Amino acid sequence: MPSKSKAAAKAASKKAPAKAAAKSVKKAPVKAVKAVAAPAKASGKKPKYVYTWGAGKADGNGTMKPLLGGKGANLAEMTRIGLPVPAGFTITTEVCTYFYEHKKTYPVELKAQIEAGVRNMEKIMGTKFGDKTKMPLLLAVRSGARDSMPGMMDTILNLGLNDETVVAVAKITNNERFAWDCYRRFVQMYGDVVLGVQKLPGEDHEPFETVISNLKVERYQDEHLADSLLTAEDQKDLVCRFKALVKERTGKNFPSDPWQQLDGAVGAVFGSWMNDRAIVYRRKYNIPSEWGTAVNVQAMVFGNTGDESGSGVAFTRDPATGEKMFYGEFLINAQGEDVVAGVRTPEPVKELKKQMPKAYAELDRIRTTLEKHFKDVQDFEFTIQAGVVYMLQTRNGKRTGLAALRFAVEMEKEGLIDWKTAVNRVPADQLDQVLAPIFDRDAVKKAKVIGTGLPAGPGAATGKVYFNAERAEAAAHKGEKVLLVRIETSPEDLRGMIAAEGILTARGGVSSHAALVARQMGKVCICGASGIEIDYHTKTMNAGGMTFKEGEDYISIDGTSGTVYAGEVPTADSEIIQGLLRGDAIAKKGATYKNFIKLMNWCADATKLQVRTNADTPKQVQDAVSFGASGIGLCRTEHMFFEGDRIDAVREMILAEKKDDRLAAVAKLLPYQKGDFVGIFKALKGLPATIRLLDPPLHEFLPQDSTAQSALAEKLKTSVDQIAKRVHELHEQNPMLGHRGCRLGISFPEITEMQARAIFEAAAEVAKKGGKVKPEVMIPLVGFKKELDLQVAIVNRVAEEVQKEKKVKIDYLVGTMIEVPRGAITADEIAHTAQFFSFGTNDLTQTTLGMSRDDSGSFLKDYQENEIVKKNPFATIDQGGVGQLMQIAVEKGRKTRPDIKLGICGEHGGDPDSVKFCHKLGLTYVSCSPFRVPVARLAAAQAALAK
Ligand code: PEP
Ligand code: MG
Repeated sequence: MPSKSKAAAKAASKKAPAKAAAKSVKKAPVKAVKAVAAPAKASGKKPKYVYTWGAGKADGNGTMKPLLGGKGANLAEMTRIGLPVPAGFTITTEVCTYFYEHKKTYPVELKAQIEAGVRNMEKIMGTKFGDKTKMPLLLAVRSGARDSMPGMMDTILNLGLNDETVVAVAKITNNERFAWDCYRRFVQMYGDVVLGVQKLPGEDHEPFETVISNLKVERYQDEHLADSLLTAEDQKDLVCRFKALVKERTGKNFPSDPWQQLDGAVGAVFGSWMNDRAIVYRRKYNIPSEWGTAVNVQAMVFGNTGDESGSGVAFTRDPATGEKMFYGEFLINAQGEDVVAGVRTPEPVKELKKQMPKAYAELDRIRTTLEKHFKDVQDFEFTIQAGVVYMLQTRNGKRTGLAALRFAVEMEKEGLIDWKTAVNRVPADQLDQVLAPIFDRDAVKKAKVIGTGLPAGPGAATGKVYFNAERAEAAAHKGEKVLLVRIETSPEDLRGMIAAEGILTARGGVSSHAALVARQMGKVCICGASGIEIDYHTKTMNAGGMTFKEGEDYISIDGTSGTVYAGEVPTADSEIIQGLLRGDAIAKKGATYKNFIKLMNWCADATKLQVRTNADTPKQVQDAVSFGASGIGLCRTEHMFFEGDRIDAVREMILAEKKDDRLAAVAKLLPYQKGDFVGIFKALKGLPATIRLLDPPLHEFLPQDSTAQSALAEKLKTSVDQIAKRVHELHEQNPMLGHRGCRLGISFPEITEMQARAIFEAAAEVAKKGGKVKPEVMIPLVGFKKELDLQVAIVNRVAEEVQKEKKVKIDYLVGTMIEVPRGAITADEIAHTAQFFSFGTNDLTQTTLGMSRDDSGSFLKDYQENEIVKKNPFATIDQGGVGQLMQIAVEKGRKTRPDIKLGICGEHGGDPDSVKFCHKLGLTYVSCSPFRVPVARLAAAQAALAK
């Protein structure tokens, strides 16, 4: 860089006082990645850090996302396919890595390469950077990571303007207002992003915005006057006031040298990779911090030269509903940031057809070209300068689960993609969005509409209003249902958005950052609800003639229609649930229902791994089977003990001190359990059922407080003291590692016997009536082969007896859970007895990590924040630890019993990443809760299709 790059970088890093950024850098140090210049040097070639594009030629292409970032790679690709892209260059992600490894300095070669990049742009554009006499080359400096992170990092536009070049721009364009508008925007952005002049804690508005509001009030007595009505004089005055603000807040003058400006901007964009919101976003979407961001420097084109110009953001199809329509919005006489920042509410792109028919036709042509070339729905930014369209970006559009499903099915039908690609196009963890509730049809008719806005993220949400992200997050943490309501959201609101049930903004459009981020998170979102007046000061909102107070009053939002309702509106099942589980004929005719069925059929064609369900009632079984479950992977028999008044018999069984008393109590339980299993076998219609014998520590069933103890004493005709004494005796310090699992059956074989009898008698009853049954009896928490041997002997004996008594043959298996490390390590021994293994990854995670599954929530946050664990290990399998034990168990189990059936029934069975891992291990099935079955089926199909 023409200015001293090291010094400038240091200065930039000092100048970037965003506290959060500094804090985050400390918290999440950049991982060491090998020095980037070395390999190129070793081969004798100069390392290449800058890739240029322009005039139909590009150094890079669309496949180079790791090096050039998504934006840079696609700008190169669009240039190559002949789309109108202003010239520019990309500084690679390797430089970002270098920057963080070398105390925020750059490789020595970079300076000259950037200079050459600017010269190349000058040649193509016919302008000069810093020209004071003719139209100068002005630059846009933008971030661009491998995966897009909308709004999370920094952008600087109109770079190169100063008190002299602005005069040249005014003269050449004969448009003084335009020139000063650009300059004012530049000082504002640079001041905010590079020099760190930002909102102080407790301030609700950006300081530059406050300066603008003050000027509007002073001169026009109208705080809400449109920016486009500000005159050249107003803009000049604002530039002065902004510079004074910069001086006051930073103690330094605003830099006027264009090269120094460029240097600062590049440093700030690299610096923004480690800002707080980028870190939060990466954590949420699993983007490794090692990837780094690229920086794109591009010649400015102007959407704010007058009414023949404008800027917009468009999608080749509707990203909220998935409909094939030209979807997007634009603002006349504005720069791109105005559209995405949500400060002005833009117009729908179809309006452009009336206002600028030629530009609209060109954009429509580009829309088709983009889909044909990229074979996916594109989200693109464009600028129209004096009637000419320019492309500033394209990327695969973020989409809701609903839209992802529709895009995939319809693009396959159109022949743009094949069915396998279509299966991969629907993110498994977004599929549950299409199963999410909608408002109850009748309740919504009665609800009071208090406003409407743009439907930006579909679904139904209800909650108490909160007007500030931090307060919303805090309330959600306390368990409140929260709606984040803002005049407009900024990327700083991310944490509040994550915590909220839904988001409502008074300003901004469907492609504002708020909307993009909300959609991807599957959050219900309405933007630009103009009838809503929010007062941050009094923490109230006025809408539909009513006032809503923060933390007290509820509203409900329908992100599919854009309607806002007063109060809490009850929700109802989605179309798929109505069609699939309730057999609703109208729902079955719906497009979403049909698309869902098509996707599930493709999954069935692709899948090797089966998906079973964790279910304990016939109703749950029916739901899961309707979703495509191929049996029960885990029936927790203890859940049945809480039904009706059978808990009394359970308590009697536990409290019994003598075997005879226990046998009597157990006998009372037998008919209940048998009845349960009959219901389950019938609901399964021949599908297999893994039924686990009693597992939890016994004291879980006992009354702990004195009132409940006296009630029980009365029922069991014994004394309260006797009950209290027994409860005390059964108390354990570490119940999760205590008298539970097969240890109960070892101490009280009569319980195992009763449960086995209930299973086989139920199976016999159903079988005798012509039903098919496949019981698989599962022994929990086994660590020693002998434990299993003792329990299996009882099960086999009872099975024998029942088959003889009932004169019926039952096809059954007996196996074990693998959920303690000793069980995994000695799986070869255990497999001599076990006919199947099912990984109980809840306990296996607990016992492998030595972390309580019930208490780890309090510190796991810190573990994730410090990147000790990337994801919660109780939600996603810790592949490096727990996963290795699973692998050992699979290998050892198969060595002894090559055809051993292998499954997983911990909560991980419904987590897409874990499902993919189980596919790799070669398990027979995963098992998850009924409503996760579609997600697991999709993840399993994607795993099977992956090369
Ligand atoms: C497990 O430990 O993973 C399991 C499925 O059993 P539970 O959650 O009932 O302990
Ligand atoms: Mg367990």
